[in-house]
Amino acid sequence: MARVAIYPGSFDPLTNGHVAIIQRGLNLFDRLIVSVANNPQKQPLFTVAERKGFILEAVKSDPRVEVDSFDGLLVEYARRRGVHTVLRGLRAVSDFDYEFQLANMNRKLLPEFESVFVMTGEDYFYVSSRLVREVAIFGGDVTGLVPAHVASALRGKAIR
Ligand code: ADP
Repeated sequence: MARVAIYPGSFDPLTNGHVAIIQRGLNLFDRLIVSVANNPQKQPLFTVAERKGFILEAVKSDPRVEVDSFDGLLVEYARRRGVHTVLRGLRAVSDFDYEFQLANMNRKLLPEFESVFVMTGEDYFYVSSRLVREVAIFGGDVTGLVPAHVASALRGKAIR
């Protein structure tokens, strides 16, 4: 049976850290569903459609990767998709606390739910969507931190 996992996130925007997790996830799973969480409370910089577009462009229509989005609870989405394994990346101890709580909460909500964590390499441990957004908005150079097409979309958001 094909091994499938959901890789959920805000991806606002996709960074090279996310791309590395996708690539490494594909060594563990036959297929990945990279799914953009639609959480309007987070007031995203990019729309769900834009964020999906960034991912699609980065995976260059790799047939092993499906790009999707979801609203509401991840466990409900997982149940609907019939996929109970979720891939997440871990950068630092600061991620661990939140991810540990999230994994256990999700397992409480859906007992067959399982989280698989991949630890980031030394290249991207400091890269987060939030910092990338902050740097880019003030006109900083994010080359090397995000794919080229994301960097060019970010340039359009700079306020000076
Ligand atoms: P969320 O808002 O759900 O945290 P993100 O888009 O920020 O969504 O991240 C999605 C997942 O990717 C999370 O598991 C996060 O820890 C992981 N991730 C983000 N950036 C990196 C990175 N540079 N290296 C490894 N994992 C990362």
